[in-house]
Amino acid sequence: MSKSTDIAALFDQYIMHTYAPSVTLVRGHGCKVWDADKKAYLDFTAGIAVQNVGHCHPKVVKAVQEQAAALMHCSNLFYSPNAALLAQRLAKMSLGGKSFFCNCGATANEAMVKLARLYGHDKGRFEVITMLNSFHGRTLGMIAATGQTKVQKGFDPLPLGFVHAEFNNLESVKALVSGRTVAVMVEAVQGEGGVLPATKEFMTGLRALCDAHDLLLLCDEIQCGMGRTGAWFGWQKSGVKPDAFTLAKAVASGVPMGVLVAGPKLADVFTPGTHASTFGGNPLACAAAMATLDVIEEEGLLRRAEEAGKLLREGLQAFVDKYDQVVEVRGEGLMLGLVVEGAAKEVVNTCREMGLLCCVAGEHVVRFVPPLNVKDDELEEGLDMIGDALDQLYGGGEAEKDD
Ligand SMILES: *Cc1c(COP(=O)(O)O)cnc(C)c1O
Repeated sequence: MSKSTDIAALFDQYIMHTYAPSVTLVRGHGCKVWDADKKAYLDFTAGIAVQNVGHCHPKVVKAVQEQAAALMHCSNLFYSPNAALLAQRLAKMSLGGKSFFCNCGATANEAMVKLARLYGHDKGRFEVITMLNSFHGRTLGMIAATGQTKVQKGFDPLPLGFVHAEFNNLESVKALVSGRTVAVMVEAVQGEGGVLPATKEFMTGLRALCDAHDLLLLCDEIQCGMGRTGAWFGWQKSGVKPDAFTLAKAVASGVPMGVLVAGPKLADVFTPGTHASTFGGNPLACAAAMATLDVIEEEGLLRRAEEAGKLLREGLQAFVDKYDQVVEVRGEGLMLGLVVEGAAKEVVNTCREMGLLCCVAGEHVVRFVPPLNVKDDELEEGLDMIGDALDQLYGGGEAEKDD
């Protein structure tokens, strides 16, 4: 028995079966991770779009170590410099306004919806229009917000106040606007729903619709934010500004953190007692987030996400051209999906055997979200392994396209 299988057995015995993990990881550096038996993998999951600056970036590690030794947590009864400085920085780089800190994506979205409800309350407006195939988290509220029945099944009755429109279909959103509507909530690039970017027309159309009906435009940037698309935030790509947006995943490089950033219109809607989080904005998470922002800036990782994304996209496109069973490459920047006819899971499993970690986004989409500072040779190595995996699954003459 290997060390990895021992750990897997222990894990499966004592941890609830909400996941189906594969290898046992114990160490990471940059774009590489190692399992408990010292086997190395190239990691194109990056902790599911969390390690945007790479695993254990020395600057982030140092910031966390120093802050851990100084003050890890002090509660929201007291002022904390890191939280103030981080919020100032986020305001300056996005909407102006103010931030609320919490601990994960779902709770950031909960905060955003609560903020919208409080804003609309006196006018009797509470309903949020979200998109089909969206993903907003796993709290009761956010499974109701999420436009996928698979996350809702078995958990009814669901909280009220959400209706679902078709993504990239402005008319379908318009049709749902009523006197109850307070906001429209959207991912600039749907992540879990299959790595699908919103069109520019859709985003500008939503902004205009919201302006016309005094609705709030809310963006869930939890997966597509923090440089992933080549811009700090996915909404910047379409040139529209939301009224508020949420961050989590990559914001603190793996130290749990969620952020709600609200522009001036919503910045002062919460007042003392209306919302709270014990760990939210604690010095440790804020130090990790500040270091993460520093690294993205100092290493020019927005531009790198574009460049690396282009290389990876070209490499993946070659597989679309080669195999009938590979349908399409889609996504934005370094958030890419390879659409296959068969089960995406098969591709993910075969890639892992070759030494490359990637993940699924829905049944037929293989998702690639490597660290933004992935090197050219790592991209090439990864593409070689994807090629070998596809060849093993789909190769064999007949299926290959003639041209
Ligand atoms: C991951 C994700 C969430 C949920 O974040 P958690 O930290 O798991 O609660 C919400 N929205 C989007 C777009 C995500 O990708």
